[in-house]
Amino acid sequence: MNRSHNFSAGPAVLPFEVLQKAQEELLDYRGTGSSLIELSHRGPEYTEVDLGAREKLKQILGLGDDFEIYFLQGGASTQFSMVPYNFLSGDEQADYILTGSWSKKAFKEAKLFGQANNAFSSEDSNFNRIPTDAELKLAPEARYVHFTSNNTIFGTQFRKEPETAGVPLVCDASSDFLSRPLDIKRYGVLYAGAQKNAGPAGVTIVIIRKDFLATAKTEGVPTILSYATHTGTMFNTPPVFAVYIFNLVLDWLIANGGLEAMDKHNQEKAAILYDEIDRDDFYRGTVLKDSRSLMNVTFRLPSEDLEKEFLAGAKEHRLSGLKGHRSVGGMRASIYNACPKLSVQALVDYMADFRKRKG
Ligand SMILES: *Cc1c(COP(=O)(O)O)cnc(C)c1O
Repeated sequence: MNRSHNFSAGPAVLPFEVLQKAQEELLDYRGTGSSLIELSHRGPEYTEVDLGAREKLKQILGLGDDFEIYFLQGGASTQFSMVPYNFLSGDEQADYILTGSWSKKAFKEAKLFGQANNAFSSEDSNFNRIPTDAELKLAPEARYVHFTSNNTIFGTQFRKEPETAGVPLVCDASSDFLSRPLDIKRYGVLYAGAQKNAGPAGVTIVIIRKDFLATAKTEGVPTILSYATHTGTMFNTPPVFAVYIFNLVLDWLIANGGLEAMDKHNQEKAAILYDEIDRDDFYRGTVLKDSRSLMNVTFRLPSEDLEKEFLAGAKEHRLSGLKGHRSVGGMRASIYNACPKLSVQALVDYMADFRKRKG
């Protein structure tokens, strides 16, 4: 077995046990003589997987019956327009907190449907920070406040939910979903593409509070894009393989102590990495310290030549996926739930050695 230390931002590393289980079950799913992805999505095998994933998600997040859960396709990007399609029209307002490329994309779509307000933007400092509550310009009459809990590209993360004086939060949690406990009651909608922290590409998990859902438009929304279409029923074929793997990830998450344990583990991993970055001036974090992400750690080296050398050397050490997004440059180490501490330690050892040789 020659697995690399995988720091890809997404699709990203999955728990080894999950991959192993999927491999075991791939050709003959529990004695059926078929793979699960060759069976009807309305049959007993997939139904068990689907219901199981919902039950586990409820358990992990402490969701009561006041929330709906959807397993949708089209990625988090589809939610950028699906949310305002269902919840915003005409002269209604929604506030958008702009902390990176993904929130800008969500904002752009919302403008097609109603009055989307720019409540804050850190774009003039290349999205290097998260706002304080005092900096937010919120409209009291807004239908919702949209924010991106973790900014995958820039490496910033909200430490806690923004204060919105009771206005429901709508959150793109794609890159830190299930990485830590959260106060779910404050969310009208929480959506996440699975492929960063929760599973493979292909399924988007959407959680909507029922009292907020009750305020959704009932007319003028295309059938497939209306949440009501998917409520309590499988309208069309779900992404069965992605949900199946997601369900296995939830088993793994529960077996490994749930969100509290994930949070602790993630904090420890991030601390190891940021300590190395902060040791001296050789490595330089790209965002303000109190905005730093525990999921995507972004840093630069003294020159672009050294960055190229660093990446080439990393490859030789089986450290993969470290190249930063072009809008930030440098390095990005994505250290999601399934990234073992061993991988972070291997990266830090390589960083220390590289600094000794080149610093
Ligand atoms: C990756 C990502 C997206 C885009 O997700 P898709 O599933 O590719 O549409 C949106 N938001 C955030 C925060 C992301 O990290």
